[in-house]
Amino acid sequence: MKLSASARVLVTGAAGFLGSHLCDALLAEGCSVIGVDNLCTGKAVNLRHLAGEPRFELMQQDICQHFDPGPVDYVFNFASPASPVDYMDLGLETLRVGSDGTRNALDVALQYGAAFLQASTSECYGDPKVHPQPEDYWGNVNPVGPRSVYDEAKRFSEALTMAYHRYRKVDTRIVRIFNTYGPRLQSRDGRVISNLMTQALRGEDLTIYGDGTQTRSFCYVSDEVDGILRLARSGEHWPVNIGNPEEWTILECAQQVLAATQSSSKIRFEPLPVDDPVQRRPDITRARRLLGWEPKIHLNQGLELSLPYFRQCVDRGELARPVEGTALPASLTRPEAATD
Ligand code: UDP
Repeated sequence: MKLSASARVLVTGAAGFLGSHLCDALLAEGCSVIGVDNLCTGKAVNLRHLAGEPRFELMQQDICQHFDPGPVDYVFNFASPASPVDYMDLGLETLRVGSDGTRNALDVALQYGAAFLQASTSECYGDPKVHPQPEDYWGNVNPVGPRSVYDEAKRFSEALTMAYHRYRKVDTRIVRIFNTYGPRLQSRDGRVISNLMTQALRGEDLTIYGDGTQTRSFCYVSDEVDGILRLARSGEHWPVNIGNPEEWTILECAQQVLAATQSSSKIRFEPLPVDDPVQRRPDITRARRLLGWEPKIHLNQGLELSLPYFRQCVDRGELARPVEGTALPASLTRPEAATD
């Protein structure tokens, strides 16, 4: 099943950061879009500009419950808390949406003969021992640590997606999404770019967890969505990394934020969260070869493009969300003794 301009497309998690940008891109291609979201972490404001768009409708619905959107040609399963502070606050909900929610979304695809694309994550690689991470690396995930509610939910989603492909012949895709940023990333999201941009614009200290030498690779949202749509149109069933291979330490990222915002904020070091991956960078050989995809927007350009959005957030009085908000006490997040 190919993604055609006349397709009727279901997007779960439509009110989220990535889901809402995906809806925009699908509508721009001529598709009709049914968005589904329970507004648990997604925000209706992300879809406000689509009010009155006849090819778009939003169902407020938890995909962990059975649901029927009617006939669809393609299902994009993007529903899940995705930021560490959110998924650690909503641990059980995150596990449930990765299991029951993914199964319900796959059942919609099965029922209507639709193609299916699962939003997966670089977190499947955990704290990776192979660098950069190719898709055939199985990862180094702590299955009982605080991040496991997300990592294992997404790994289970991948397993379920491959099983529906193998046993039910559903035409599936899996995208492993690396850190993505841009407008609509909530200032309260708790992720590094939203926290640092918000703090810099408010003239507050930038919170760096650990010594800031851990690395991430940041992909601007339009590049990410372009890669996802290319994968959707391809015939590839194996996972494909979509992320920007430019790798930055978190300290370098903070310097880029200070330059983009022309802020004189200072840096404040805070404790590193448990199981925070030391390094992360996608190997995008497969995406280049199969999809002809390559990100175009460098971090400094993407931060400039995001600046007006974060200024609006700050003008509305929105705050960053430091990691202290995590609900679990230390005794539940830290093992008594490290084991290998
Ligand atoms: N981080 C930080 N300050 C913040 C938020 C995050 O130093 O205010 C660090 C975090 O510990 C991690 C990296 O930035 O090492 C990326 O964190 P994020 O939550 O954005 O995503 P992750 O890649 O960990 O899922």
